[in-house]
Amino acid sequence: MSDSYTPPLDDLRFVLNKVLDYGRLFSLPAYSHADSELADAVLNEAARFTSGVLGPINAVGDEHGSRLENGRVITPPGFREAYRRFVEGGWPGLDLPVVHGGQSLPLTLQASCAEMVNGACVSFGMLPLMERGATRLLIAHAPQAIVAAYAPRLVSGEWGATICISEAQAGSDVGRITTRAAPRPDGSYALSGSKIFITYGDQDFTEQIAHMVLARIPGAPPGTRGLSLFLVPSRLLGADGSLGAVNSVSVTRVEHKMGLKASPTCVLNFDGATGFLIGKENAGLKAMFTMVNTMRLEVAVQGVAVASAATAKALRYAAERPQGGPPEGKAAMLIEHADIRRMLYTMRARTEAMRALVLETAFNLDLAQAGPNEQRAAALALAEWLLPVCKACCSEAGFEVANLAVQVFGGHGYVADAGVEQYVRDSRVMSIYEGANGIQALDLVTRKLTPDGGQRYELFVARIRADLDRCSGQAGLLAIWNALSEALAKLDAATKTMLARLGGQAGTVRDAEAGASAYLALVGLVGGGWMWLRMASVAADTPEKTEKQAVARFYAEYLLPEAQVLAARAVIGAACLDTLDNDLLATP
Ligand SMILES: Cc1cc2nc3c(=O)[nH]c(=O)nc-3n(C[C@H](O)[C@H](O)[C@H](O)COP(=O)(O)OP(=O)(O)OC[C@H]3O[C@@H](n4cnc5c(N)ncnc54)[C@H](O)[C@@H]3O)c2cc1C
Repeated sequence: MSDSYTPPLDDLRFVLNKVLDYGRLFSLPAYSHADSELADAVLNEAARFTSGVLGPINAVGDEHGSRLENGRVITPPGFREAYRRFVEGGWPGLDLPVVHGGQSLPLTLQASCAEMVNGACVSFGMLPLMERGATRLLIAHAPQAIVAAYAPRLVSGEWGATICISEAQAGSDVGRITTRAAPRPDGSYALSGSKIFITYGDQDFTEQIAHMVLARIPGAPPGTRGLSLFLVPSRLLGADGSLGAVNSVSVTRVEHKMGLKASPTCVLNFDGATGFLIGKENAGLKAMFTMVNTMRLEVAVQGVAVASAATAKALRYAAERPQGGPPEGKAAMLIEHADIRRMLYTMRARTEAMRALVLETAFNLDLAQAGPNEQRAAALALAEWLLPVCKACCSEAGFEVANLAVQVFGGHGYVADAGVEQYVRDSRVMSIYEGANGIQALDLVTRKLTPDGGQRYELFVARIRADLDRCSGQAGLLAIWNALSEALAKLDAATKTMLARLGGQAGTVRDAEAGASAYLALVGLVGGGWMWLRMASVAADTPEKTEKQAVARFYAEYLLPEAQVLAARAVIGAACLDTLDNDLLATP
C-alpha cells in the first residue's frame, strides 16, 4: 500500500472545469495554441506518469535518502531514472514560454499537474520546482546572453537549479547575509561564503546546476538593500555554450532530517566561485522574488498534494477496516464510527477547500499575465493577497490532514508500512521553508493589507460578497451561506482593528503583529468557506451534488465556527505576550 498513489483526477477536474471554468483561458491569445481537450489529455498523462513512475519511488526515497559520497550527492535508487523519464515527457517546461522550449500552458494546469507530482513524491518534485523558478527569474532579470544560454536547458530539464539564500546567521532575516561577491575585471564576480539548507544543492540527475545566489558586493549598504543576485553555475561554459571547468562550489554536508529524505538538503561552500550579476547591483532581493513567489505557490500545492494523498489512503482504509460494533455478528467498519467520520470529513473539507483556493490563485496569476487588459490589475491584486494565505494555510493543512490520517489508521498508521507517517514527516517542513508561516502572516498584514489602504482585502471581500449575492436562496446552500456570511463579518471587524493598529490608532504595530498568524488563519478559513460556497453551488446540477453539498455543510457547521476564536486572537494585542520579560519567560 505504501507506494500506491491514486491521483485525484475527478476532484481536480471538478475545480478546474466547474468552479473556475478555466477553459476560458484557452480563448486568450497567449493560450490559443491549446484547448480544453489538450489540457485534459495532459492531466490524464500526468496521472499516469505520477502513479506509475513517481508513486513507486516515494517510500524507497524515504528509506534510502540522499547521501554524500566523495563530495558528490547520490540520490536514492530509482530517482535518476524517474527524472530522465520526467524530462523525456516534457514535464519541466509545461507553463514556461514556447520561445525557450516550453509549452506556454496556463499556470493553473501546471499547478494541477504539480499536485499529482507532489502527491506521488514531494522529494522528487522539489527539483523541477526550482528549475521553473530559476527560469522565470532569468527570463525576467538576466542579460539576454545568459537567458539564451540557460533558459532552454533549464526548461527542458537538461540542467538543474537551486535557490541559495539561507546562511547560518541569516534565516528569515535575509538582510544578515554575508556571502561576498568581489567584482573582477572581466565583469564577472568572485563569490565567497557558505549557504546552508540548499535543496538539491548537488544531485546526480544533471551535469550542470544553476545556483541562484544572494550575496553582497563591496561597499553595499547593510540589510536587504545591499543584496545582489548572481547566477553561479556548477560548471563554467565555453564560448560555444559547452560545459567547461568545474566552478569553485562544493557540498560539504547533506543534512539528516525528519522528512523529505530523498531531497538532498546541502551546505554549499562558494570559494571564489565565478558568478554573473543578474539584474542591478543591490537590487537582488526584489529580483529573487520572481523565483520565491513561484516557489511559494508550489509549496501551497505541496500541502494540498500531501493532504489529498493522505485523505485518499485514510478513506480507503476506513472503509475496509472492521473494528467495533456488536461483539457477536458482523463488525462495523471504521468509516461507520462518528469520531472517524469527523476526521474524514475534516480531511476532505480542508483538502478540497485549499485545492480550490490554490487553483483560484493560479487562475488569477494566469489572468494577470495573459487576461484582458482591464482584468489584469485586479487579478494580480487578488493573487498577491491570496499567495501568503495559500502558502501558510495549505502547508498547515498538509501536515494536519496527514496527522489525522495517522489517527484514522491507528497503530497501523504510526508504523511505516501504510505510508502515512511519511506524509506527516514530509509535510512538516512546508510551514518552515519558503518563508516560515509566521513571516507569511507578517507579510499579509504589513505588506498586503496596508500599503494600499486595504484595497487587496476589499477586492477579496467584494468577490465573496458577489458570490454570496449570486447564491442567496439557492437550495442546499443555507448552512454554508449563513456560516460564511457570519465569518466574513468577523473578518471585517478584525480587519478594521488591524488597519487601525497598523495606522497607529487604537494600538500599535506590535499589537497587529501579535495577531497576524490568527488573522491569516481567519482569512484562510473564510477563503475556504468561499470555495465551498462555490463548489456546492456549481455542484447543484451535477452527479457530485450530494457529496459536495454535504461536505460544504460540514465545513459550515464544524469548521467555520472557528472564525469566532481566530477573530478574537487576531485582535488580542501584544499585552498578554509581553507580561513576562525575556529572562522570566525563558526560565523553565
Ligand atoms: C528541508 C529544508 C529545505 C530548505 N531549502 C532551502 C533552499 O533551497 N534554499 C534556501 O535558501 N533555504 C532553504 N531552506 C531554509 C529555509 O528557507 C529556512 O529554514 C527558513 O527561511 C527559516 O529560517 P531559519 O530556519 O533560520 O529559522 P529562523 O529565521 O530562525 O526562524 C525561526 C522561527 O522564528 C520565526 N521568526 C523569525 N523571525 C521572525 C520575526 N521577525 N518575527 C516573528 N517571527 C520570526 C519564524 O517564523 C520561525 O518560526 C530550507 C530549509 C529546510 C529545513
